[in-house]
Amino acid sequence: LRFEIQQSEKLRIIGQLAASIAHEVRNPLTVVRGFLQLLQSDQIPEEKRRMFLKLGIEELDRSETIISNYLAFARPQSQRIEAIDAAERVEHAAGIISSYATLRNVEIAHQARPGLLIEGDPEQLSQVLMNLLKNGIEAMQSGGVLTISAIDEGNLVLIEITDTGIGMSPEETARLGNPFFSTKEGGTGLGIMVTYQLIQSMNGSIDVHSEKGKGTRFTIKLPRKYD
Ligand code: ADP
Ligand code: MG
Repeated sequence: LRFEIQQSEKLRIIGQLAASIAHEVRNPLTVVRGFLQLLQSDQIPEEKRRMFLKLGIEELDRSETIISNYLAFARPQSQRIEAIDAAERVEHAAGIISSYATLRNVEIAHQARPGLLIEGDPEQLSQVLMNLLKNGIEAMQSGGVLTISAIDEGNLVLIEITDTGIGMSPEETARLGNPFFSTKEGGTGLGIMVTYQLIQSMNGSIDVHSEKGKGTRFTIKLPRKYD
């Protein structure tokens, strides 16, 4: 499916998001502040101390994700357009997300052909891959192998992210990309919206194939650049 946001619609969403982002980020800050206050006491049992630290870090990570997605969406066209090696970005994203995956018993298998070039902002492509990998991990509640690959097909570079998680119904799949569509407790519904937007700005397209209870595969197609 192709996803296109008109400029006026985008401005409307940016405005709407700003309010909810402020709210979404204030909550974790309050929570973290509370934990820090509790940790000031030296009476706290070790087990509780560890739990407060773990929850605090999770809340900060959540704020970070919300803010970077918002910025990726709201920021004007990226200035940094360069030749990107798809395999290099795949490895980079898989590396960054690896501790998150390990915590959830997910193994990330990446196989990318080196030397496939595309044009764009490397940070933005990383953001896209991170969002999709993160969703894949979160969908695999009992662990397993999450696959990411990059291959060429004609004049296109195909990046595929395949999970064996909970999958989506056709109705859920159809709602992907709508701001705030989330089925997760504490979900933001910003990741896919931003992902679609970024792929569009790179002149690419993204397809999703999903089956409830089986898993999901996202296929990104980007124009291949030859040097
Ligand atoms: P969030 O992850 O914060 O909920 P996203 O925009 O990243 O927001 O995803 C929106 C929704 O799309 C998710 O809540 C989930 O319902 C669905 N979704 C996205 N990716 C997957 C996936 N790999 N497997 C199952 N559902 C998914
Ligand atoms: Mg997400």
